[in-house]
Amino acid sequence: MIQKEKLTHPIHEGLTVKHICKQFGTVKALDDVSLTVEPGEFFTLLGPSGCGKTTLLRIIAGLEMADSGRIFSGGKEITRLPAMKRQVNTVFQSYALFPHLTIYENVAFGLRSRKFPEDEIRKRVDRRLEMLDLGAMAQRYHHQLSGGQKQRVALARALVNEPDVLLLDEPMSALDARLRAQVQEDLRRLQRKLGLTFILVTHDQAEALVCSDRLAVMRDGRVIQTGIPEVVYDNPQDSFVAKFLGAANLISCTKVPGGVQTDFGFLSLESEPPWQEGMVAIRPEWIRIGEQQPECNGIRAKVTEIVYRGSSFDLWLEPGHLRVRTSSYRRIDPGREVWLELAPEELVILKDEAN
Ligand code: ATP
Repeated sequence: MIQKEKLTHPIHEGLTVKHICKQFGTVKALDDVSLTVEPGEFFTLLGPSGCGKTTLLRIIAGLEMADSGRIFSGGKEITRLPAMKRQVNTVFQSYALFPHLTIYENVAFGLRSRKFPEDEIRKRVDRRLEMLDLGAMAQRYHHQLSGGQKQRVALARALVNEPDVLLLDEPMSALDARLRAQVQEDLRRLQRKLGLTFILVTHDQAEALVCSDRLAVMRDGRVIQTGIPEVVYDNPQDSFVAKFLGAANLISCTKVPGGVQTDFGFLSLESEPPWQEGMVAIRPEWIRIGEQQPECNGIRAKVTEIVYRGSSFDLWLEPGHLRVRTSSYRRIDPGREVWLELAPEELVILKDEAN
């Protein structure tokens, strides 16, 4: 869908926010948020509704002022710089296209208001429309486009300004699941090709995993964990991140020599937990299922429920109410007793202590 092409003057700028706080009345929308987005990185702010993602994005864009804290772009402080003067463009959830203007004019709008010469506007707009496979739609109006096409127009309109940093506020939330998956991959490819810094806001963990070089998981106005998707997924630091980023099994336990005691028996661990009572996590796809008792960390369990997921099955098992994911050729009917292996290297010790 995306034509191969680069920006005329790619500028590789990163972004740093330091100790940002923002309060609306009694609501602490942001509570001491610090993070650095590297130049040319696809960075995602991931978290549930109300955790402060959009507020942080608006502060970076200059559409909202922080109560305290500082923002730097490419080494220069931009904390008090007006939105218009920042080399930052935003693609909003609603796309915010002008209904009375053609697609061409929508994309040209920013350049026109900055008084660019007409031939430069035409060159830049045509290039962006071609790149995003919209060339044939330049004279249409926004009501004549599909959701995915509108989304690409919004991207073209932001990219035509050649920003250092592109902010994306849930730009795919209006698309159906199939189109969303397609646009996520396109967006990732586009970002790699242009080498721009992208900051995406989403509450969709799958989207964050697909798109990001790195992500920050947010909760209640704070950044809980930052890292590359695989590392955060494999090593969630607490039960919130473990649950938010996929379907983790969370197991309450008490520390004993060599491991932990759980409701369904002893589990050996690779290292010692920092707490006396707390939690370990294991991903459903990491639990091995078999007929033979494993040498270590074996649990005899009974399948209580089975959920078909296309390429895999989710099995629910007792004791422990564990979820196990198996490949779809391996159907195991409810009522069957099996051995589970929760290998020590697959068990993640979470930071949370028992309440
Ligand atoms: P969503 O995914 O639902 O968009 P979010 O993570 O982007 O959520 P924000 O929109 O940043 O969250 O809001 C963070 C908190 O600040 C919420 O509790 C919200 O109600 C509050 N808030 C945001 N903007 C304002 C405002 N202008 N006035 C009052 N409260 C606000």
